[in-house]
Amino acid sequence: MRALRSIWRLVVALPVTGMILGSGCVEESRTPVACMERAVFGDPSQSAYILPYPVGDSYRLMQGYCYPEGGHRNQLAYDFETPVGTQIIASRSGTVMKVRSDLPDDGKQPESGQHNHIMIRHDDGTVAFYAHLQQHSVLVKVGDNVFQGQPIAESGNSGNTQGMPHLHFGIYEGWPAREGFDVPVNFRNAEGTLDKRRGLRPGGYFRALPY
Ligand SMILES: [Zn+2]
Repeated sequence: MRALRSIWRLVVALPVTGMILGSGCVEESRTPVACMERAVFGDPSQSAYILPYPVGDSYRLMQGYCYPEGGHRNQLAYDFETPVGTQIIASRSGTVMKVRSDLPDDGKQPESGQHNHIMIRHDDGTVAFYAHLQQHSVLVKVGDNVFQGQPIAESGNSGNTQGMPHLHFGIYEGWPAREGFDVPVNFRNAEGTLDKRRGLRPGGYFRALPY
């Protein structure tokens, strides 16, 4: 456990640390509340989201939300242990706002925020963030409308993953996406163990059921 913790202490897999992810930022006067205070999950059976990988697939959750010693200390995000080449699907329908796919899958980008990714805006204004995607695997472009379950890319190892391929997935309140202004989500088709808050419990496997 100590080894695991020290690994995660090193993992500066902070895709959005201190950053404004979009462009055309409007000054936000609100102060973000602490991560665990934001972590108020709804009933998973009512969730608008499905797991971001195909029905039948099952992957381990490497890191959950607000993990104090990892890259998610201030993020309501999930890291799924998806091997390079795993098909990634849209967790919810929406419009593609931002895409990057040029970076290599070496897991060595020194700067946070430097990874291949897709951002998709939903009809309620929230924005999904899919990161560490495989180089040149992105199947969508800015402006595309995508439907829930549509393949959008393959999982990869781009960005600062410390050599551990995974999919980073999180939801932001709106566009532009800002750290500290995110949304707690679970998934209506996830078979696996939730924690007492009804978020996905780290270390467990989550199978995507038909939805
Ligand atoms: Zn992550």
